[in-house]
Amino acid sequence: MDTEGYILRTIDYKDTSKLLYVYTETGIQSMIARGVKKMQSPLRHLAQTSNRIMMDLSSGKLPTLKDATLIDHHPSVKQDLVRSTVLSVINELIYYNVSAEDDHPKLFGFLKKFIEVLKTTDHPMELLMVFELKFLFFAGYAVPLRHCHVCKSEEGLAFDVHEGALVCANHKNPNHHYYEAEIYRPLRYYYYVDVLNFEGLSVDKPTLKTLHEAVNHLHSMHMGHTSKAKKILNSLID
Ligand SMILES: [Zn+2]
Repeated sequence: MDTEGYILRTIDYKDTSKLLYVYTETGIQSMIARGVKKMQSPLRHLAQTSNRIMMDLSSGKLPTLKDATLIDHHPSVKQDLVRSTVLSVINELIYYNVSAEDDHPKLFGFLKKFIEVLKTTDHPMELLMVFELKFLFFAGYAVPLRHCHVCKSEEGLAFDVHEGALVCANHKNPNHHYYEAEIYRPLRYYYYVDVLNFEGLSVDKPTLKTLHEAVNHLHSMHMGHTSKAKKILNSLID
């Protein structure tokens, strides 16, 4: 029982088994969980999405999950529609966007801290943007949110949607769409905050909606996959 993992996704496999896609400190590990759909299987309740487990695997490229123990099944998250949907968005983001070269120990550590905060925050929709913005940075797409990305000036700043970056008055393009301070300041906070110190900004609903539009736009610029869970979540803001 030596590998810690977090189950991103499960797929039914044959009559009684499941394929598990588990995030670990070495990346996404796929495995077969044999017989776990049987009522009497001891691993039945462990082989579920968003569970954190300790695993014992057979060797080979597609190993079998031989044994597992539960670390946390995050009941307070799973019982809440918004929190559980936020976690589904994150599961999809990791599943579809991490690659072999990424710094997995770093992301795995961040994921664990993030879920701890998700359990208790009163602002899960804002917290999601912390993950989404930091995930862009993790994937190699820096989002310049402190000063103009061209000249580093801090005068007359606005967030250029097309550039995905802050620009100063001198570097504004009249054909571009901009977000002003009431949008880029929260984005800056989400991007740079230590997640363990996160406190929601209690933004109003229209602002929250615009913030999500801005982050969604950044993700559509840089990430290949459009999240199904994110669509569900966006419908919850309306
Ligand atoms: Zn500038």
